[in-house]
Amino acid sequence: MIKICMTLLAITLTVGSSFAETWKEDLEKGAATTEQNHLNVPFAKPTNWKTPYTTPGNWPVFENRGPIDRSPPDKSSKVLVMGTGDPTPNPFRHGPAMAVIVNGHPYFVDCGEGWWRALAHSVLAQSAIDLASVFALPNLKYMFLTHLHEDHTVGLPSFISNPYKFGAGGDKKVFGPTGVDKMIMHINAAWSLDRHEMAQGSIVRSPDGSTAVGIPVWPGTATDGRKIFEDDNVYVEAFPTKHGFLEHTYAYRFTTKPDGRVFAFGGDGTYSEGLSAAAKSADILFVEGITRKNVKFATWGGDTEEEKVRVIGAYHMFPERLKKVYDESGVKSIVLVHVQNYNNPENFDRLGVLNEMIDEGIENILLAQDGDLY
Ligand SMILES: [Zn+2]
Ligand SMILES: [Zn+2]
Repeated sequence: MIKICMTLLAITLTVGSSFAETWKEDLEKGAATTEQNHLNVPFAKPTNWKTPYTTPGNWPVFENRGPIDRSPPDKSSKVLVMGTGDPTPNPFRHGPAMAVIVNGHPYFVDCGEGWWRALAHSVLAQSAIDLASVFALPNLKYMFLTHLHEDHTVGLPSFISNPYKFGAGGDKKVFGPTGVDKMIMHINAAWSLDRHEMAQGSIVRSPDGSTAVGIPVWPGTATDGRKIFEDDNVYVEAFPTKHGFLEHTYAYRFTTKPDGRVFAFGGDGTYSEGLSAAAKSADILFVEGITRKNVKFATWGGDTEEEKVRVIGAYHMFPERLKKVYDESGVKSIVLVHVQNYNNPENFDRLGVLNEMIDEGIENILLAQDGDLY
């Protein structure tokens, strides 16, 4: 009976002109609760939830909304969040991946696991702008890496090679910390057999656009940042950040030329002066966050809570530290991505880390889902 009603409701909604509106309302409702799973994925409750695979943050029952358009309608420059995942293998979140979109051109920030599929997911699930046109193969040109950890770079072979399989490459440039040149050189070399087969084999492609160039951004530590890229659409600056024991990691600050929106991307890391400078009076800071309250449930970082706070704290952003960035920078809003939300299954709250940040006194803060537009 319920099923029949649902079918009738679906038909009514599809026929009615307000379908899109109702759908959006449903998604927003989903964002406010932890009761429903919008994906309708079957779920077998694991007996051992203390593994990277089974940690409650990965459970489909806690993935209860799809992409939302949260961008101001009167601004043409947008940020698409394609991947909000972290190294935990959450099957419902792609690895770190974002794109600043200006005048129909994408500028990508970080290239995590499943990057190429993340594009398709956003194209199919986010209808506020024509993403299939934005991601036209020759447009896939510019990548900005905040740091060279595996979870932010493992999608690079896809970024370089996948578009080529469909007939186009583009003159790809990958900006990142010192070492990015070597990383790209090695990726080019590692997939040379595939490339040569396509260029010389039955498909016969031009080898143009089948490789990329890695461009190290300035290896300095001065916190006032430096311009690293400019074209007709964007002005990009890099600022040094602090993330574990990596010597060079960066936050990027994009100023969009048509409408002057300012987006900062923190990448991974704890508090740093450079991050506050990158986010100075920006419209949005896209940044990671981790629970302090429930860090004892983290699937890595040691055996005791004390050890986890010390080890994880050297790498990641506890709420009190993000509050410091918020206060110092005067940033207008924060969007959380790459969130480490640990807890036991009984007390798991999808919005747990977000609420810790709000309790710390951060206003205007949102939690992103793959496919959201800002
Ligand atoms: Zn990292
Ligand atoms: Zn990371």
